[in-house]
Amino acid sequence: MPPVTCLRCGGRAVIKRPKNHHKLCKICFIAAFEDEVHHTIVSSKLFFPGEKVAIGASGGKDSTVLASVLKTLNERHNYGLDLVLLSVDEGIKGYRDDSLETVKRNALQYDMPLKIVGYDELYGWTMDQVVETVGKKGNCTYCGVFRRQALDRGAKMLNIRHVVTGHNADDVAETVIMNLLRGDLPRLSRSTSIVTGSSSSEVKRSKPLKYAYEKEIVLYAHHKKLDYFSTECVYSPEAFRGTARTLIKSLEKVRPSAILDIVRSGEDMARLTPDKGQNACACDEGEGMGGCGSADAKTSGSELAQMEASLQTTSHSSNLETEITTNGKTVDDGSVKLPIRATPRAKERPSGPLQTLGQCIKCGYMSSQITCQACTLLETLNKNRPEMSI
Ligand SMILES: [Zn+2]
Ligand SMILES: [Zn+2]
Repeated sequence: MPPVTCLRCGGRAVIKRPKNHHKLCKICFIAAFEDEVHHTIVSSKLFFPGEKVAIGASGGKDSTVLASVLKTLNERHNYGLDLVLLSVDEGIKGYRDDSLETVKRNALQYDMPLKIVGYDELYGWTMDQVVETVGKKGNCTYCGVFRRQALDRGAKMLNIRHVVTGHNADDVAETVIMNLLRGDLPRLSRSTSIVTGSSSSEVKRSKPLKYAYEKEIVLYAHHKKLDYFSTECVYSPEAFRGTARTLIKSLEKVRPSAILDIVRSGEDMARLTPDKGQNACACDEGEGMGGCGSADAKTSGSELAQMEASLQTTSHSSNLETEITTNGKTVDDGSVKLPIRATPRAKERPSGPLQTLGQCIKCGYMSSQITCQACTLLETLNKNRPEMSI
């Protein structure tokens, strides 16, 4: 059997891209992945020169790849960005404490400053204590709200107004499906747009990896030998999200383009839907930084886990990292086109008057309600606090 040739350079292909089944050598895969993220960044005018950007870093694969790619692109294309790692310590023993060790190593590897903000110091509660009180069911809601605000607060402490998160195409597709199944089209706008802000935050959020497939992120991390943490959150993710995730992975099996197709459909629907997404619900979009949202649901994580395991075992051999069959047709055109639709930015933001911004009467945090979401949740928690005095 003759070796399969790389679509871009004619060398020996060792990777079949999960996204489009193009066969590439390792160097061309890494280059293609980086070029595509660069294209996303440039076409959506994500950054301005000199901008200070915090990377929401969990030590997981998505945010580690994001940090690595941003560092590479920042240097290669002279973005002029000042990059900082920002981590949230939810206080989950055996999960976050270990993954934070990974982030600390990443900070050294990428030569980036690291800031860690803890639920404990911000709210007086660790997630372990929250779960002790409210049980495992519904704890993701607390974690989502707390994490969102923690990232904002961390960014403010650093005087940064832009936080990038590691949300990938799979995460976005998941959210589109969830909103569709809930019949909640207005929410699509916020979940699909690359840049999101909410009325309760001065900090802009964006997702530079929103068109990157989760499987390709795993491949990229593997071939670049990135140091990341791959254990799932010990608390089970929201069941509905897990179901949406399973559905998307099944669709991807029979039609690899399905993930991007769902993302693009979501973008198109968002354009047709008046934006009503003012009430930011932090649990809505997952967090894309190794939180519950991007952790693999137990029901569907096995395939990715297997992929990672098989990458581990084959990494020592010079043989195929990913199996390639020769019966697939190769495309003559060496270029990899990105099915990205550029949207005029003005259209993504409502032009009318925004909901009035106020401050939470309890914590002073920006909020469109009298008390912010975090304080509302804390009130419930503190009522049920077992014996412990604050
Ligand atoms: Zn090549
Ligand atoms: Zn508050």
